[in-house]
Amino acid sequence: MAKYAAPGQPGSLVTYRDRYDHFIGGDYVRPAKGEYFANPTPVTGEVFTEVARGTAEDVERALDAAHGASAAWGRTPVAQRANVLNEIADRIEDNLELLAVAETWENGKPIRETLAADLPLAVDHFRYFAGVIRAQEGGISQISDDLVAYHFQEPLGVVAQIIPWNFPLLMATWKLAPALAAGNAVVLKPAEQTPASIHVLMELIADLLPPGVVNVVNGFGVEAGKPLASSSRVAKVAFTGETTTGRLIMQYASENIIPVTLELGGKSPNVFFSDVAAHQDAFYDKALEGFTMFALNQGEVCTCPSRALIQSGIYDRFLSDATERTKAIRQGHPLDTDTMIGAQASNDQLEKILAYIDIGKREGARLVTGGERADLGGELSGGYYVTPTIFEGDNKMRIFQEEIFGPVVSVTRFDSYDDAMKIANDTLYGLGAGVWSRDGGVAYRAGRDIQAGRVWVNNYHAYPAHAAFGGYKNSGIGRENHRMMLDHYQQTKNLLVSY
Ligand code: NAD
Repeated sequence: MAKYAAPGQPGSLVTYRDRYDHFIGGDYVRPAKGEYFANPTPVTGEVFTEVARGTAEDVERALDAAHGASAAWGRTPVAQRANVLNEIADRIEDNLELLAVAETWENGKPIRETLAADLPLAVDHFRYFAGVIRAQEGGISQISDDLVAYHFQEPLGVVAQIIPWNFPLLMATWKLAPALAAGNAVVLKPAEQTPASIHVLMELIADLLPPGVVNVVNGFGVEAGKPLASSSRVAKVAFTGETTTGRLIMQYASENIIPVTLELGGKSPNVFFSDVAAHQDAFYDKALEGFTMFALNQGEVCTCPSRALIQSGIYDRFLSDATERTKAIRQGHPLDTDTMIGAQASNDQLEKILAYIDIGKREGARLVTGGERADLGGELSGGYYVTPTIFEGDNKMRIFQEEIFGPVVSVTRFDSYDDAMKIANDTLYGLGAGVWSRDGGVAYRAGRDIQAGRVWVNNYHAYPAHAAFGGYKNSGIGRENHRMMLDHYQQTKNLLVSY
């Protein structure tokens, strides 16, 4: 076991600034209205920095800087842009622990996840898109003897990116890497709950990018996000967040007839067929582990397997074993490398989760375990901790239908394959799903029948850069990761040439 020193403590890898301004044109810029807001750490509830409160004027300044930089960046040879992405990847890798502490302190997630998953994935994302952009080829078609069609992929120009608080650095890199690879300049708005770790990243990589290619405007949704997403000066809005906000983003963008990619909410089913428990072996163990993924990142994952569907034949036994496994999830100080579940990202989120736990009880679901705020004592007693919670109930209940975004799983049983598919698909969402069966045919069929953009078959929660990720139904539009992401950041130019 090891414990990283908290920012502000002796020996800490991270020293946060007392205040963070906007990052515009390669420099720190004070907010036009001069206002700042407090940023608390969910680990203890104490404020550790304050952040510029962005408004439309700040967005305009960032757009000026981005427009000033976009043409030159778009014309920068692909190999050179790819080199910059690789250098960013190296810089993140060289500062992995520092960034992990910064991220964990601001978001509350356990450092073992930040070190082992979030940041290595961020590094790989930059390297993946550096490779992909170099491998991209245009098309030439000989239409007739004297007519040739040339196709070129061109950047969109200046793009807006608006991200949530659950994976601040990873969500930023998921968006920045393909946009920059494709030759766009960016104005990024972090979530108001988690802007600081993104500024720690910007400080590390600023010298690698021409000024104005990446700009960060802090602030709240309506004050800073809306003017950005509604601006006629952006060529695209890439958004990750709630479905209700996604609807607004589409409305804003429709005024300017620009494309959006929307990565929205989910209520992912995790389906366990009876053959999973045929033997007490490594596969069974892996399936139980897959069940507990509902508590990964404190359940603050858009693809959180927040509904578990267990086949009747193994229902009691599987649920009992899964409950034991859930109780063994170690909750503790997020900077302790032994900790498996940390703090919810904000007090608002903590209260929302507790309210849903109350709703679950009131609508008659059976509380199997958890269901309360965890008081971890000492300096953590002001932090935002919830015990991993299992409810048993019916898929019609609100706790099965609405996104809680916390370490809460709602469990129900099914008899036949058709029942399972009916329950799994009885949701407005279609982002992620899990399927567990030793029978390859059943697993494959279920993977195809579940209406979700990503189905994990006999595993859960891997996010490789080369696997397309995105939502069906109310979970979004477009895909992230995979080289198809470049299509969302480029437009096709056709030259039809007579010879
Ligand atoms: P949110 O929609 O409240 O906020 C997301 C971002 O949008 C923030 O930066 C916020 O300031 C901004 N925003 C809010 N209102 C706005 C407006 N009117 N105009 C412009 N910007 C606005 O979401 P959240 O609570 O930060 O994040 C949690 C949600 O994100 C969950 O629903 C989760 O499922 C979803 N999510 C989805 C994915 C995915 O890939 N599909 C990934 C992570 C999170």
